[in-house]
Amino acid sequence: MDSTAFDLVDAHCHVDLFGKEEASVVEQIERRRVHTIAVTNTPSVFFHTRDLAVNKRYLYPAIGLHPELVDSRSHELDRLWPHLAETRFVGEVGLDYVTSDLDLRRKQRDVFSAILSRCADYGDRVITVHSRRSASDVIAAIGSNFQGTVILHWFSGTRRELERAATIGCWFSVNPTMIRSKSGRQLVELMPKDRVLTETDGPFVKIGNRGAIPSDALEAVRGLAEVWNEPVERTGAHILDNFRRAIAR
Ligand code: MN
Repeated sequence: MDSTAFDLVDAHCHVDLFGKEEASVVEQIERRRVHTIAVTNTPSVFFHTRDLAVNKRYLYPAIGLHPELVDSRSHELDRLWPHLAETRFVGEVGLDYVTSDLDLRRKQRDVFSAILSRCADYGDRVITVHSRRSASDVIAAIGSNFQGTVILHWFSGTRRELERAATIGCWFSVNPTMIRSKSGRQLVELMPKDRVLTETDGPFVKIGNRGAIPSDALEAVRGLAEVWNEPVERTGAHILDNFRRAIAR
């Protein structure tokens, strides 16, 4: 297949965590035309990603506070609000219940709810959300009337939770690792096709022994084409159309 045939979508990538490869990753995003939501893990690093995105066509800088950093970085929450006025893209935010510390889980919920509430005030924010072992509480925090676009990244909850998330209007971004695992693929089969996007979660997702880069979203497109039993080109066009609807105001 001609790899330049369609624009790709990487709805969740940590562009700022590629170290010395960062410049070539950014260059490749533009050259290969990969619409990339560049998530950040703390407000103090957002300015860097925002600067990377200047004069770029395919890079969408997102302001975030990762749930696993809420304990050590919650003091940065006040630095998040001004950036929320600068970009429509928000992430990585959400909940992570790998911790069994109930106080910490509560602190994560307080931070996530505060961010959702400010986003709702704008009404058009596009939020990429982490929900490891916490899908029910993430869905409850979003609620059924949220104004904006919520993308559940690397969703790994139950079938029932997936159905609830779909019912309240959530989107799902799917990466190559999800497609490769049996449980991940079973969830992907249940996702509403008109609310599925691709992602890499690079550099955390691995392709062989290297960190995934945005153009590896093509692997997710190929996997989805198999699940949906259709030509890769059609899936690619469908994902791009989904992305345009996801970010439309
Ligand atoms: Mn991530």
